[in-house]
Amino acid sequence: MIKLSCKNKMKYVVPVCAAVLLISGTALANGANRKALLASHGAVDFSSAEGSILIDSTDLTNLADEIDSLESAFKSKTKKALNGINTYVKNDGTVSYDPGSAANQPELPTYNQLMDGIANSQSSSIGIARLSGTSYYRTSKGKLTTSSSGNTSVSLGSAIDDNLSAGKVAYADGTLLLGTGYDNAVLYKNGYNKGYAEGYAASEGCSNISYTYHSHSSSCYTNGKLTCGKDENTIVSATIS
Ligand SMILES: [Zn+2]
Repeated sequence: MIKLSCKNKMKYVVPVCAAVLLISGTALANGANRKALLASHGAVDFSSAEGSILIDSTDLTNLADEIDSLESAFKSKTKKALNGINTYVKNDGTVSYDPGSAANQPELPTYNQLMDGIANSQSSSIGIARLSGTSYYRTSKGKLTTSSSGNTSVSLGSAIDDNLSAGKVAYADGTLLLGTGYDNAVLYKNGYNKGYAEGYAASEGCSNISYTYHSHSSSCYTNGKLTCGKDENTIVSATIS
């Protein structure tokens, strides 16, 4: 409430018509409508010998619309940025990393949903063969390379506990991982088994060793992630003849 204590008369008070208050239906559609909560209305245009005062509630409604617009822009841009790193705040409030969830998002998530999305973001797509526009290949010796010549195309996947070195931590798909070194243990065991089989064959005068390698089955995957800790170079058994 603004009180004018002097006795000078107010020149005129302009009522702000309803039409002005209904400007910008966009903010309404986006859920925020701060100007509807404003108690101020109308305008005061006061003049005296000392000067003049103009107080117009249109200024407040414009500010309210600006804030609604900023909020809307923040939410939609943040949502877009999260989608860019495969993080989707779904209608039910949960966070998903599945691009298939893109159609199942609120038009404008709440602040809490966005904060949750940010805290659980930075996911990586399973099965993508390209990272930052680059394709990767694996050499016969198991090294990662960008050269396709004579090499096998690799499918990039998120890190899991079992393919990080023991005691190392990392985030993948918003989950804190603690490396177990399992894949290195498997590689060590493969080398050991291969060396043992070859040494045994040599001592027995045998020359034929055939290895059976692991091949992935549905039980190798958990929630779409490869969790068996093995690959097609993992020796399952060796037969000496
Ligand atoms: Zn497997």
